[in-house]
Amino acid sequence: MDNISCNRMWSRLLLEAAAIPHFPARRIRQKNISICVAKRKGLLIIHVHKAKETKMNLKEISAFTTGLLDAPQNRVAREAALSDDLVGLKMFDFVEIGAVRADDGYFARCRAPEIVGPQFMLPGDWLAEAKSVLSIFFKFTERVMKSSAALPAWPSNEWLHARIEGQMFINWAMDALAGKLTQGGYPSLAPSSDRRFLSAQKKPGVKAFSNSSFTSNWSERHVAFICGLGTFGLSKGLITKAGMSGRFGSLVSALDLPPTGREYSEVYEYCIMCGKCAKNCPPQAISLEKGKNHSLCAEFLDRTAAKHAPRYGCGKCQVNVPCQNGIPGRKKIPLAADQHT
Ligand code: SF4
Ligand code: SF4
Repeated sequence: MDNISCNRMWSRLLLEAAAIPHFPARRIRQKNISICVAKRKGLLIIHVHKAKETKMNLKEISAFTTGLLDAPQNRVAREAALSDDLVGLKMFDFVEIGAVRADDGYFARCRAPEIVGPQFMLPGDWLAEAKSVLSIFFKFTERVMKSSAALPAWPSNEWLHARIEGQMFINWAMDALAGKLTQGGYPSLAPSSDRRFLSAQKKPGVKAFSNSSFTSNWSERHVAFICGLGTFGLSKGLITKAGMSGRFGSLVSALDLPPTGREYSEVYEYCIMCGKCAKNCPPQAISLEKGKNHSLCAEFLDRTAAKHAPRYGCGKCQVNVPCQNGIPGRKKIPLAADQHT
């Protein structure tokens, strides 16, 4: 809740409490302050409680986020399942976290038209008291990746679920972590869940957007790069130590966390330019010579949406490639992959 909506709610609450003879006790929360308003024998009683600050470190944040992987939200619910055998499908089974200072100079560089564009909002624009930014990589389960690799032309049902219900899980998980940090006295928010988040397909003549056909005012992949999680690949996905096959969430927080560091200096450092993602791409949107054509990719995604509405997805450039499960040519990090989920 922002300051303006909180103040409005606070004033409305007081007016209601004054006007209603038997006003039931009500509580509103903002950041780490909780205000309770009650009425006893015609008198208004106002209780202000400040939560004790709990400073989580990265290890605790990692343990909390890993714990969320066991939540039912990380499994396909019966009502949503595309077939009976997909009920309970686990979508992600591993997380990796990177952190960086909110004033890291790379954020401002994202405003360049050739990177994300001038519409990119800095961490301090999202949250005035921002001290750190966290990026979390959620790795798809083996079952999701295998099902996709087995169908070269169209998305598998497992992949469609991981793309759509999986994104819902990530939104829920990032909000849960933001809530936990905020409750501990460190306001935090997930930009992609914030009402100011803008994500749109570029329309001809819209100058606010960069050269890409698709843009937004916060980019999970660029933020992950800045947070040290990995570098870009030819397909424009991000190659992490656990590979490319998964999705990202991020948080801006008032919690001052030590940066996890970037173990690279080049934007495409982890990509071996093998061209396997180009070979896998159904509409041939990727080439070694020209990189990725975002419009061709977006058009193909539209075709998958027409075929699989309300879901869509592709990601053939993330499976059956040398960067699927790690940095090509480097030792893979052990994953807690559950082969049977
Ligand atoms: S498949 Fe090869 S070329 Fe494509 S992103 Fe991965 S490492 Fe780079
Ligand atoms: S998501 Fe599909 S269409 Fe888009 S680049 Fe990757 S393989 Fe090609």
